[in-house]
Amino acid sequence: MNRPLIVGNWKMYKNIPETVSLINSIKAGVHAVTNVDIVVCPPFTTLAAASEALNDSKIDLGAQDMYHETEGAYTGEVSPLMLKDVGCRYVILGHSERRTIFKETDELVEKKLLAAMKYSFIPILCIGETLEEREARQAFEVVKRQFDKALLHIDPSEMERIVIAYEPIWAIGTGRTATPEQAEQMHSYIRRLLNEKHGEEIAQKVKILYGGSVKPDNIAQLMERPNLDGALVGGASLKAESFIQIVKNSVALETQEKQSS
Ligand code: PEP
Repeated sequence: MNRPLIVGNWKMYKNIPETVSLINSIKAGVHAVTNVDIVVCPPFTTLAAASEALNDSKIDLGAQDMYHETEGAYTGEVSPLMLKDVGCRYVILGHSERRTIFKETDELVEKKLLAAMKYSFIPILCIGETLEEREARQAFEVVKRQFDKALLHIDPSEMERIVIAYEPIWAIGTGRTATPEQAEQMHSYIRRLLNEKHGEEIAQKVKILYGGSVKPDNIAQLMERPNLDGALVGGASLKAESFIQIVKNSVALETQEKQSS
């Protein structure tokens, strides 16, 4: 069983005082939680303040995106070294909002993933289908394409460091969560793809997160499924109470049910 990982994706929300205040509340709320990894991903403009606020805590810092070049004439972009500089350990890549709104291709996501590996980040690779693709019974095909293209040149010895987030686009910010059965079906498929590519041992160690309208009252049921290792949380990570409750409910379930099986 993998140690649960709960990641908050703050998207384009929170100024500096709000960031510091939210982090302080989360820190206080998860103080006693010892068996879950917790990451917050604020916007670029508040990463430095977030890093300072997280200084004395076990919560990790992540960025929501990154460009793959080290430096250069890339107006508006942020490089791996800049994220290192500010204390990021994790980086979200290929989020569906990047793919759909900003037209990021599988090829670009792959370049970013390779840069993340080169600079020793823990990348959180997001993959997932649209509602149209699900209704056309193409969900597995789409997820396999995104998986194959992003991971094409990854050294097997580095695979364990990559986190995969299955985020069905129809469930993101819509309040419509995938059922635990739908999530597990795709997670076990991704685990199978990992197994075919890298073998059982590595496949079991890679963390596969679910993302899409995760809330304090649905995380426990989702985490009951054997192939869910945690969650990527958008809206519900913007309020301390809900994020803290998600963290606690995932741990409680891990402890009570997975460990007893
Ligand atoms: C996300 O942004 O990755 C996400 C899953 O958002 P939400 O939890 O709001 O659906």
